[in-house]
Amino acid sequence: MQIQQALSTACSSLGLERLDAQLLLLHALDKPLVDRAWLIAHDTDTLARPAEVRYIELARRRAAGTPLPYLTGNIEFHGMPLHIDSRVLIPRPDTETLVDWALACLHDSRVADGPIPQIIDLGTGSGAVALAIARFLVQTGQAGAVHALDVSPDALALAQANAERLGLPVQFMLGAWLTGISARYDLIVSNPPYIAESDPHLDALGHEPRLALISGPDGLDAIRTIVRQAPDHLQPGGWLLLEHGWDQALAVRELLAQAGFTQVQSRRDLAGIERCSGGRWPG
Ligand code: GLN
Repeated sequence: MQIQQALSTACSSLGLERLDAQLLLLHALDKPLVDRAWLIAHDTDTLARPAEVRYIELARRRAAGTPLPYLTGNIEFHGMPLHIDSRVLIPRPDTETLVDWALACLHDSRVADGPIPQIIDLGTGSGAVALAIARFLVQTGQAGAVHALDVSPDALALAQANAERLGLPVQFMLGAWLTGISARYDLIVSNPPYIAESDPHLDALGHEPRLALISGPDGLDAIRTIVRQAPDHLQPGGWLLLEHGWDQALAVRELLAQAGFTQVQSRRDLAGIERCSGGRWPG
């Protein structure tokens, strides 16, 4: 089969988007996913049989609904290439709002010769948030120690591998939110599971770990736990920043205010939706 034929068959017979078909073919050929021009330049080349077999299998899985990043094993988050697989949530562009807010907090709290800011990412999954923060600290030469925890050993293994591959210093821990942790932090960030267990949107997310998505009847169980635990783990003046669902900003701001946080506020994602809320522990 020629390359052009392989692409058009995946689109016409399996209903794949052309871009997905191209990326899967590049992946089957062990070529960088940015190399779509190569496919065009070689459209009459014949696919070697092993690559063809790999490609057909990938295209079938994509047609059956497996998200593209799980098939290629790659995703870009905050300008950083991450490896992922079905052990972890696929990092979303919306979560870059949380990272940008965290970086702004770190920037504002820069104190020359002060103690090294301690940062923790709860429910790190692929490590996306913690690694983006660590990368910022390395690139700007700012001091800071980034910690990350997850309740899933599988997720931690993947996050750790991402950190090693990117050469970023993050300390990983196994744990359920802040339970059993005695340290205090200057910044706590989390993109916890926040979907209600009966939410119809879950049907479209069936390939991702339920543990990373669902959090009780109203989706707020994890956020309630984090907001309750955070005051005992924040330095005076430290920030807690949380990502949440499109309709949860008000509820999360109320939880933060009731727990005694000040400067409670929300941030909008790229679609203009209030996607993150946070507050500062008084001090
Ligand atoms: N922190 C990871 C991310 O933002 C995982 C989040 C999760 O699994 N809920 O992508």
